[in-house]
Amino acid sequence: MNIYKNPKRETWSELTKRPVFKKQEIAQTIKEIFAEVEKNGDEALFRYTEKFDSAKIDQLQVTAKEISEAKDLISEELKSAIQTAKENITKFHASQLVETEKIETTKGVICWRQNRAIEKVGIYIPGGTAPLFSTVLMLAIPAQLAGCQEIILCTPPDKKGNVNPAILYTAQLCGVSKIFKVGGAQAVAAMTFGTETIPNVYKIFGPGNQFVVAAKDFAQDYDVAIDMPAGPSEVLVIADENAVPEFCAADLLSQAEHGSDSQVIFISTDLKVLNETINEVKKQIKELPRNEFAQQSLNNSHFVLLDSVEKALDFSNLYAPEHLILAVQDFEKYIEQIQNAGSVFLGNYSCESAGDYASGTNHTLPTNGFAKNYSGVSLDSFVKKITFQNLSKEGLQNLGKTIEIMAEAEGLLAHKNAVSIRLK
Ligand code: NAD
Repeated sequence: MNIYKNPKRETWSELTKRPVFKKQEIAQTIKEIFAEVEKNGDEALFRYTEKFDSAKIDQLQVTAKEISEAKDLISEELKSAIQTAKENITKFHASQLVETEKIETTKGVICWRQNRAIEKVGIYIPGGTAPLFSTVLMLAIPAQLAGCQEIILCTPPDKKGNVNPAILYTAQLCGVSKIFKVGGAQAVAAMTFGTETIPNVYKIFGPGNQFVVAAKDFAQDYDVAIDMPAGPSEVLVIADENAVPEFCAADLLSQAEHGSDSQVIFISTDLKVLNETINEVKKQIKELPRNEFAQQSLNNSHFVLLDSVEKALDFSNLYAPEHLILAVQDFEKYIEQIQNAGSVFLGNYSCESAGDYASGTNHTLPTNGFAKNYSGVSLDSFVKKITFQNLSKEGLQNLGKTIEIMAEAEGLLAHKNAVSIRLK
């Protein structure tokens, strides 16, 4: 836990750096895994599942029996919670379906756009240290709303070779067509190339650890699209004197417990709130079953005192957090100043885990500073937008001269002729 009191702006770029991973080593591993999966298909997947997940399996695809048994392995209480979350996530994402309007740009020239779902999508569900069935909701619901024809899912099995029943239950609830027991870079490679069992897809979605993030990045060299770099989780909390230290500490730990490579940053404008939050973190961490992960992640974390919320937001915009919590009074007045963040939680009662599970927003978000140039997953992530245009004869007469002049100026005479020949 690092504590900084009023650090000078010159030091901020250092403080906003993420923990450094062994990038080159990981890149080499990914390259090897991709080459193996491309060459040996399923056989390589069985081998890597044994090596990285300690699971000896003889079938990659989850069977219909396993899926139907899953519903009996989870409680009615959990099913009902999943249903509530599903309804909210559906409501929020369905509202993103926008009607296209036809626009007459010049008399007789009509242009418009239409959405087409990406036909085959692959969703990655992390399962290494925690089975994130909530991520199934976050990815399969918008995929289904968008109208994707094939939604396949890859997730690492546990040591016994099983997929967590909550993942299976949620997947069948949300229209996933096929589920495969494979994780990490090998899952991403399988969805990129296709194997005997796993079909290739056009776009790969989902968060994961550093191996998954690096593999998704690598997959783009093979003409596969990805949602975004969604890696180890982060939160930045800005707290003024009205913030509640117990709440702030709980929010910080909710991200720190994700994994040792997660990072949390706490900025307060009030020394008392800063100190009390640090004490609360030390107290609450003892009660957490995943306190070892949280403790390691806190080693990468910063607690900062700054003298104004405006300054704290400048710091936050430089960091570009995946999650930003504004535990400040009059948060509305600061909204416009937020420039770079994946998802924002306003006020003392908007805990970040609401967005992780059930409020309706998507939890698959850009990390590692990519909130500067990427959005989180939304319905749009699952569609392509095709433009259409229709020019009447009058339309071409009205616009023809403009096109001819521009084509000639670029030296592209065939372009010019395509107009002239029609207007002769
Ligand atoms: P994971 O499923 O992402 O990774 C597990 C896989 O990693 C294993 O199956 C294995 O194949 C691979 N792996 C592990 N060690 C390896 C090694 N030494 N070499 C090669 N491959 C190896 O699960 P996880 O590890 O629990 O990570 C989940 C991550 O997802 C966390 O970092 C969490 O913070 C993040 N997350 C991010 C978001 C977001 O939107 N950004 C949301 C939820 C979770």
